[in-house]
Amino acid sequence: MKMFRQAKRRTAGRRNFELSKAATIYQSYGRNLYGSRLSFYDIPPLEEITLEEFETWAIDRLKVLIEIESCLARLKLVRDIEVTIKPLLLKYLPLSPGTNESQVYEERKKDHYSHFILRLVFCRTEELRKKFIKNETVLFKVRYNMLQPKEQHAFVESYHDKLPWKYISTEEKMEMFDELYDATGLIIKNNLTIDGGEPLSNDYIKQHIKLKENFIKLPFEKVPGLVSSRSIYLKQGYAYIPTTLQLNLLAVEYQEILTKTLLKTFQSLPRLEEDDRVLPLLNNLSRNFSNMQYDAQQYGQDSGLASDITAASVLQPAINQHFPMCASHLQKSLVHQSHLKFQGRQQLGLFLKGIGMNVDEALKYWSYQFTKGSSSLTVEKFNKEYKYNIRHNYGLEGSRTNYRPWDCATILSKPKPGKGESHGCPYRDLNMDALVDNLNDMGIVDQQEINGVIDDVGRREYTVACTRVFELTHKKQLATSKQSDEGMHINHPNLYFDRSRQLERVDAK
Ligand code: SF4
Repeated sequence: MKMFRQAKRRTAGRRNFELSKAATIYQSYGRNLYGSRLSFYDIPPLEEITLEEFETWAIDRLKVLIEIESCLARLKLVRDIEVTIKPLLLKYLPLSPGTNESQVYEERKKDHYSHFILRLVFCRTEELRKKFIKNETVLFKVRYNMLQPKEQHAFVESYHDKLPWKYISTEEKMEMFDELYDATGLIIKNNLTIDGGEPLSNDYIKQHIKLKENFIKLPFEKVPGLVSSRSIYLKQGYAYIPTTLQLNLLAVEYQEILTKTLLKTFQSLPRLEEDDRVLPLLNNLSRNFSNMQYDAQQYGQDSGLASDITAASVLQPAINQHFPMCASHLQKSLVHQSHLKFQGRQQLGLFLKGIGMNVDEALKYWSYQFTKGSSSLTVEKFNKEYKYNIRHNYGLEGSRTNYRPWDCATILSKPKPGKGESHGCPYRDLNMDALVDNLNDMGIVDQQEINGVIDDVGRREYTVACTRVFELTHKKQLATSKQSDEGMHINHPNLYFDRSRQLERVDAK
């Protein structure tokens, strides 16, 4: 598929767009399209890709952006976000500096096309545009920091039309070394000092400036913010800016480009929406942003962790310590009331199925819980009223659909629990006292940590609150784990459970 069809339809055996023509157009931009690992994405994609590539490339980029969104909501700094998303970038959007030309080309092409596809998804409203710009800018910063100084330099040079930056020579830097150090030494020191770490010595900073800082000079009116904050050296109308501060200038430039181009994309949407192949994919992608599909192939059922899930074991802390709050809350209500209403039975039943409880154990579990103690329900009555529904969830009755566990978005889309109901997401549905009690039960007692969760809830970022709780309750394991999905945003109760068990397994080794 050509990005993007306007009038022509694909004819079997024929390409809509000649590659040679695309190459000519690319040349007219006067820049080597994939010459750098970093891009302002100012050249549109022109070659053909398949519908499958269109969708999978966009989903892969979306996974990275969702993670960034989640980190930002938890107020992580760029350098912490970098640690979290590096493994995801390696997995979904690698950009190797390598010498393998075809690999480099394929990786950069995927990066280029996925960016443009997501522009189509995120250009539709002001709110989505802001979200996209914010997350893409963080991605840009992280990637810039991953470049070698030589590559950073080459990237800036390749955009000489947009960035009239002039690097000063080493001789010039050494001539005005004292002035540069006096003006920018402190800001460089603050940037290099790791939070809570020992302050770096002045000698270290001087050495760093000599060896690592490449200063640019710009007419001072181009950087009014830096001038007014007195954070740079000024001489004869020029501002001298160290590498440390250049990234923010690049990020501002990138944001301006994105703001303009997203509006242009929005204006051209009506033409694109005539394309009956692309529209359903785009709609699906925008739904995916808030509802990334949890992939059971990667976790739980296929991970070999499921065999010990029985009617009895899920009541034991060894297993239920891994439950997210929604599942714990449902199970506590079930144990306490010997009953759960329909929505709660569905939510908990499918969750338990997802963690590996088979249908026989599920029947034992529900029948025991519903008929135990002072409950007036007999086993016969249970079999008559509830057995069919449990077997139905396992695809053994009726339409024989093999139902999947509900993800957070599905749970949050259901009606809120009424009186006597316990389904839903506790971060949204419990009152503050009950929420804090549940956090305490999970071992979160530090007031500052509790406040962090409450702030997320106040912003209605329920899955962010849940991810934060996961991180707080798995601090030790996360610190020692080298898992590639570290920092992954929780968007599914079963993902929470499976990650928690996997971390426990890694920790026990
Ligand atoms: Fe459950 Fe999702 Fe809410 Fe966490 S965010 S408690 S996993 S519904």
